[in-house]
Amino acid sequence: MTRPLKRHVEMESLFGADFLPISKKGRAAAPAPAPKPAPAAAPPAAASAPKKGTSTFPYAWEQDWPSDFLKFRTEVLDCTKCGLCSTRTQVVFGTGLISTPLMFVGEAPGEDEDRKGEPFVGRAGQLLTTTLKKFGVERSRVFIANILKCRPPGNRTPAPDEMAACMPWLQRQIATIQPKVICGLGNIAVQTLLVTKTGITKLRGRVTQAQGVPFFPTFHPAYILRNMSDLPLFEADLKQVLQIAGLIPA
Ligand code: URA
Repeated sequence: MTRPLKRHVEMESLFGADFLPISKKGRAAAPAPAPKPAPAAAPPAAASAPKKGTSTFPYAWEQDWPSDFLKFRTEVLDCTKCGLCSTRTQVVFGTGLISTPLMFVGEAPGEDEDRKGEPFVGRAGQLLTTTLKKFGVERSRVFIANILKCRPPGNRTPAPDEMAACMPWLQRQIATIQPKVICGLGNIAVQTLLVTKTGITKLRGRVTQAQGVPFFPTFHPAYILRNMSDLPLFEADLKQVLQIAGLIPA
């Protein structure tokens, strides 16, 4: 067995059948993605209320979240599939429009995200938000999620069993949103979604496929905060992925 194939088989057994990449061709065999919703009226408060924490749902962007997506979120907010359910403050489901061409996927919520119930709201998140803004794109226009929906204690690296338990939630988000492109932020998100051990420095800026969707890897904004000399590369990557998504002119 070749090394890449062996690695793929290992990851398949780790993540189970649910993690099998869904190719464009193979989508028929995968769970049918929900139809792209038309912008709808604001959701009923009861359906969108989170269980605990300090979130300020409903947000404006949820106006395009159909009731089945809100129901799906409720399911995720109740998740007890791994041990993180006993240490989290709240589940960080993800934010943004469903009818977006661009989805960002990071690693896992940190302390700020765990408190607020929103992904990428700490210092790293602020860098992501300001970089998007620099190119004229508000973060509410894209969907932002993580590999893990719950914070690992002390921000430790996600454990394989936690990623395996959480991956089906992300897969359902991707299948519903069907973005034109996914931007993976940092090693954990990129290596998990591409099923590879190759590092981000080699992979960044090259479009491949993950979950049957064009996939664009770039640095994690937390890495950029520690290595500001790479900020121009991060900015160039975000500009490129915004262009691929059609959110800014090429
Ligand atoms: N880092 C991540 O990977 N995700 C977040 O939501 C915040 C920080």
